[in-house]
Amino acid sequence: MAEPIVYFADREADSEYNMLDKIEHVFKRLGLEKAIKKDYRVQVKTHFGNWGNTNYLRPAYVRKVVDLVREAGGHPFVTETCGLGYGAGGTYGGRTTAPEYLAMAALNGFTPASVGAPILMADGYWGTDTHRVAIDGEFVQHVDIAAAVLDSDIIIMLTHAKGHGLSGLGGSIKNLGIGLVGKSGKAEMHFMKNISVDAETCKGPECSACLSVCPVRCITMKKVAVIDTDACIHCGHCRGVCASEVKARAISIGWRPAPEQAVRFVENALGVVDSVGRERFYYLNLAIDISDKCDCWNVGAPLLVHDVGIFGSQDPVAIDQATMDAVSAATPNPASLASDCKEGEDKFAVAHGHKDQDSGEHLHFAEDQLSHAEKIGLGSRKYRLVTLRKPKAKK
Ligand code: SF4
Ligand code: SF4
Repeated sequence: MAEPIVYFADREADSEYNMLDKIEHVFKRLGLEKAIKKDYRVQVKTHFGNWGNTNYLRPAYVRKVVDLVREAGGHPFVTETCGLGYGAGGTYGGRTTAPEYLAMAALNGFTPASVGAPILMADGYWGTDTHRVAIDGEFVQHVDIAAAVLDSDIIIMLTHAKGHGLSGLGGSIKNLGIGLVGKSGKAEMHFMKNISVDAETCKGPECSACLSVCPVRCITMKKVAVIDTDACIHCGHCRGVCASEVKARAISIGWRPAPEQAVRFVENALGVVDSVGRERFYYLNLAIDISDKCDCWNVGAPLLVHDVGIFGSQDPVAIDQATMDAVSAATPNPASLASDCKEGEDKFAVAHGHKDQDSGEHLHFAEDQLSHAEKIGLGSRKYRLVTLRKPKAKK
């Protein structure tokens, strides 16, 4: 089978061929202009960043893609999904419910006026507006897909390629497997199914703060809070509010070990693309402002390397592999956690600093993610890179 193509436009720019022109160039070479038929509903999935993060994608990139969709005849809408972490929102709230996250998106510059299209949470108010599909995964047997995926003719994954402490690379695969699943899908990756209430610490009926934040209403109040663990989706809302607002820390859920987290969202990603058909998905990785931390952190961490450029593909594994290869080949920023990296070394692994307990060697979560993605048939790690150049001026 032919290797999938990954289009690449580098970070060099001039006033006649700037980064927005390059997005347009990649968009057209991907065939999106023709693929978008008249009146197609086209979802542009991105990430709005946390408050305090200053490395997230600028709204201008979203606006450019929205304008291109509309010029092609489609009806664009811009989406994100609710995050985990109730009660840990900081100054302006968090990303846990639709109103919280949309308010933060506005603070970070994403409004219907700025992006030129409606903005909505693809998985509803709580992150529970989802559709369940079965998959035959090694770790995951069902995926709760954000409802908006089901009603999109084309989905453009507009991804900020950067690091992520628990998966190495935060690229297109993560944007699918975490970014387009509901709260339960995110919980599947992060948490064990072992939620419990400490009867000694729980303040009982006089508190009851956890009851109202449970999106599936599976907590009842006896002498202490009691959780129906079969109905619980392990979203962590109750745990968050109990710890942050009540300051009781009566609810605990175990975290999954890091390598397992990355491969679980790879399986989520497979469920997402197969739910409506792989041919509907197009991927854009913007490898700019590349820090070791995900945009869900409330800090714009120092950048590991110089800006690399824009990648485009219809294969989520190929585009992430191409992005990893380019970041590994780039010169490290001497002021970053990857300053001592040798050429070709996995900068995310060095910056994140997770090590094997026996050997002391760095753990390579991006490698775990990509190899599992290829193994389960999500895409190909081999690719053909097509570098795009500034078009010659017409005479
Ligand atoms: S929020 Fe915590 S302390 Fe309050 S009722 Fe729930 S479990 Fe008990
Ligand atoms: S009981 Fe389960 S579903 Fe309800 S808030 Fe807690 S973790 Fe979420």
